[in-house]
Amino acid sequence: MTSGTLSPGRLPASARLLLFRQDQLLLNGGELFWPAPAAGPLLGEDTHLLPVAKDCFAADLTGEDEKESRSLRSLLFSESDSELELLSRASQLVHWRRTHRFCGLCGESTRPGENDRVLECIACGHQFFPRINPCVIVLVTRGEEILLARSARYRSGFYSCLAGFIEIGETPEQTLSREVREEVGVEVGNIRYVQSQSWPFPSQLMLGFLADYRSGEIVPEPGEIEDARWFPVSDLPAVPSSTISVAGKLIEGYVRSRKEHL
Ligand SMILES: [Zn+2]
Repeated sequence: MTSGTLSPGRLPASARLLLFRQDQLLLNGGELFWPAPAAGPLLGEDTHLLPVAKDCFAADLTGEDEKESRSLRSLLFSESDSELELLSRASQLVHWRRTHRFCGLCGESTRPGENDRVLECIACGHQFFPRINPCVIVLVTRGEEILLARSARYRSGFYSCLAGFIEIGETPEQTLSREVREEVGVEVGNIRYVQSQSWPFPSQLMLGFLADYRSGEIVPEPGEIEDARWFPVSDLPAVPSSTISVAGKLIEGYVRSRKEHL
């Protein structure tokens, strides 16, 4: 996939576009995708088109208008997996472009590279590649019980898995042990990777694990964890959807495996 050097004037007629303004997706009469002819008038000559997939481009528009718009989060439940994948990729590319307009070394402007998906400083040539922030998310289990917590910062109302960003120099397994210890004061072992998920808020890669409880009593970290407790798999609180979140998939998968076990 090449970079976004394509100008609006050279847009293929078959192209479809996802148009963003700030963190909102502009709708085309209720539709997510804009055919090239309809999108054309909204694009400036200097608008960068970011290739998302074959014949699919994203653009970040400036200025104001009255067009109907939606947040990406509000679309999570209403779109198909393949459309969500495009939306997620487009949103992350637009975020990367928007947050790397200037060089962090010399302060000059950046522009898309010729051959790779990269932004290059026009003065010193430093290259900025798209950034992904890796996180671990873990379901801690103790036989028929699972450890779920409610965040003090994001009041979703759900109890969910513990999660945290991987710090520089850490392996995912080290992050996992550290986060569980910091957030609930518990030690874990037998860490197993299960599955991952790209999460575009703004650009996380969530690595989902299971881990067995080893020792310690739950002590929620003040300011981070509002409440954390062991729940029997037969009596769970409201948890995130397994349709859209790796947390929901970890919980659902473990609960199913225990029920099969009985
Ligand atoms: Zn520079």
